Amino acid sequence: MHELAGRPTALWHPLPDGRVRCDVCPRACALHEGQRGFCFVRARVGDQVVLTTYGRSSGFCVDPIEKKPLNHFLPGTAVLSFGTAGCNLGCRFCQNWDISKSRETDTLADAATPEAIAEAAVRTGCRSVAFTYNDPVIFLEYAVDVAAACRERGIRTVAVTAGYATPQGRQALLPHVDAANIDLKAFTEDFYRRVCLGALAPVLETIEYAVRETSVWVELTTLLIPGLNDSSDEIDGMTRWAVERLGPDVPMHFTAFHPDWKMRDRPPTPPSTLSRARAIATANGVRYAYTGNVSDVEGQSTRCPSCGALLIERDGYELGAWTLDPGGRCARCGEAIPGVFEAEPGAWGSRRVPVRIGVGR
Ligand code: SF4
Repeated sequence: MHELAGRPTALWHPLPDGRVRCDVCPRACALHEGQRGFCFVRARVGDQVVLTTYGRSSGFCVDPIEKKPLNHFLPGTAVLSFGTAGCNLGCRFCQNWDISKSRETDTLADAATPEAIAEAAVRTGCRSVAFTYNDPVIFLEYAVDVAAACRERGIRTVAVTAGYATPQGRQALLPHVDAANIDLKAFTEDFYRRVCLGALAPVLETIEYAVRETSVWVELTTLLIPGLNDSSDEIDGMTRWAVERLGPDVPMHFTAFHPDWKMRDRPPTPPSTLSRARAIATANGVRYAYTGNVSDVEGQSTRCPSCGALLIERDGYELGAWTLDPGGRCARCGEAIPGVFEAEPGAWGSRRVPVRIGVGR
């Protein structure tokens, strides 16, 4: 019996030299028989590429949706979050390295069918399921099946992704989910190449595709690392690009770095850096710029871009004042606020609750 097994996939093609090439992400791994790709979870078995982690998860948690972070998507509600193992980037600052850099499939503690995940979301009062902790681009077949099962139960789905995908990869995943938080880790090719072992251009293409060619609700996140991607010039260029290519209504989150994984030589991001980034974004026309991973009520709350009213007050993951009308408009001036809102905010708060779903291994 073959040591490797998994769900057959469609995004690959044979090469003249006998290898097969995975077409999911720009890494374009060319695989010999029995070889795993850079992401570790896609591998060649026989004459095709399989997903070795289909139906297996690194564990489930009920989180606040604001933790993804998503500030304009069902605010205050609970989201059932899970990931698998592996990643197609190699970020030295990874905050989920135990999962994303796992070479041990025993981190995959839970086995769960798409139907069981949708059922668990209903049972736990979640309004959505998030593919997070590691990148759903590399387990897209599983994510797409979970999204279909969730849709049947009235549960929405969220992709938390670095957007490092080919056109085929992004088109196979994103149209199936309802919202995405896409990392824009920096605005230089040099950062992506040296720090993430990747490239910026495909990420920008994924973001433009998601915003302009799908109905997915999109928010962007940049983890600001002192001395690496936090210069005013870089943030200026990034936010100008966002407004020019995506329009002013895509929320941007500037979040604080904490020393982790292979990057322990950098200090934590000072709150003043996040405020500076938010100010630059706002000056460049970004209507919804937020700070994250720090305590900053003003920087995390949503204000009406037209009249300045405090629409959604946030203190960490707790919501305070709510001044949206049931149609998602500013209750003071009537300005339509982009996003996915319901008549009432959720009341999940900041709780994080682990959930067991499948058969333990
Ligand atoms: S998804 Fe994985 S196997 Fe496919 S090209 Fe990217 S890193 Fe390689």
